[in-house]
Amino acid sequence: MGDEGKGRFTNLLAGEGYAAVARFNGGANAGHTFEHNGEEINTHQIPSGITYGIDNYITNSSLVDPVALIDEMRVLERAGIEFEPGRFIISASANLVLPLHIMLDEIRENGAHAQGSTKRGIRFAAADKYQRDGVTAEQFFSGQMDVVFEQLTRATEQLTDSEQIRELIQKHQNWANAMQVLAPFFGDTVEIVHSQLDADNHILAEGAQSSGLDIEHGIHGEGTSSHVTVGGVLNSLGVGPHYVREVFGVAKLIKSRVGGTPESFPTRIEDEELAAKIRGPKGAIDSEYGKSTGRARMVGWLDLAELRQTKRVNGLGSLIVTKLDCVSSAGETVKIATHYEDANGEVVEHTPTSMDKLRELKPVYQELPTWNGNIQDIRRFRSLPGEARDLIKFISAELDLPVSMIGVGPNKEQTIDRRRK
Ligand code: GDP
Repeated sequence: MGDEGKGRFTNLLAGEGYAAVARFNGGANAGHTFEHNGEEINTHQIPSGITYGIDNYITNSSLVDPVALIDEMRVLERAGIEFEPGRFIISASANLVLPLHIMLDEIRENGAHAQGSTKRGIRFAAADKYQRDGVTAEQFFSGQMDVVFEQLTRATEQLTDSEQIRELIQKHQNWANAMQVLAPFFGDTVEIVHSQLDADNHILAEGAQSSGLDIEHGIHGEGTSSHVTVGGVLNSLGVGPHYVREVFGVAKLIKSRVGGTPESFPTRIEDEELAAKIRGPKGAIDSEYGKSTGRARMVGWLDLAELRQTKRVNGLGSLIVTKLDCVSSAGETVKIATHYEDANGEVVEHTPTSMDKLRELKPVYQELPTWNGNIQDIRRFRSLPGEARDLIKFISAELDLPVSMIGVGPNKEQTIDRRRK
């Protein structure tokens, strides 16, 4: 449910001849981490292809926070990454996150109705979008600033503290300045995507959150505010289904999640001592602490019912699994939920979208042996310990899905690639 290592694999795939990487959903609420020239790179809104000399797009369904985006660009620039207008392009029709959205998110998260959001204003920007009150760069640059001022006026009416009002107006001024700085980067990504496709170039679409958090296909009320599935890709890029060549799913062998209610994560590990062992040391590149928030993530066993649902909702062609090297942190055995059982003992093979239904289901586990020794330097499947191979084969057979790549360490080259080239 996040932090599977999607960024690391999109970064790896992006170097395989794609003309562009398109980030199709989410916003500054996401965090991807990968290694670049020996340095740890954290991205939030910027596509993971930014380390290559290829195009990178932020497409229509993303929720763009211009202030946070500039901060992110500055950090990457210090790591030697360049942003060229015409090559890094943000959809001018993507909805924008305003400071008032962030403020409303903070107020809600600090109150009785907290939902464990990352306080980046995503939920409120999405709400405005679907109420058709959202603001886009197109409107901003064509001088339709009334929309912003209307929003601001509405927000200030809810505030009684004049200091808060002053602060909010100041933040909106900074926001408008950030938009001017970003002006050369806005464009028509649908047009650009189609010109790439017309030239037979390939585009890699990258999600911000995991499939289980989709607003419609995830647990109702527990997910994120956008579509994170392949359906969302088509819509955000503005392309038809015949352009989809290959769909990779990424799953971490021991799951984690930050935020959300524990009940939405039925395979979570409640033994805090074991959970802490699995999380690893805080501060390590691959430890289970939120990149955007620093919060300790909930950890739990791989859930094949959830992956089956992900497979069918997205039409996965293969699965990439990550952190095989970390599996032994669970001890001598690792558990995998193969399916759920309901109160009548009936087998349930797919995760439902209703929390009430999920609450009635119990995960059924298979326990598999782990192995000793470090596997981070192994690059061939057949060189893995027998138990590690059996674990991968077991998952692949249960899901009826090939496992195309395996992460055995946080670095790009620490990968076992089983694709036929
Ligand atoms: P994302 O949101 O799915 O892109 O995931 P994150 O980037 O937030 O978190 C994944 C973290 O796990 C990163 O720090 C990666 O470097 C690390 N990681 C990814 N794959 C592996 C792996 O196979 N082994 C280890 N040890 N770490 C990995």
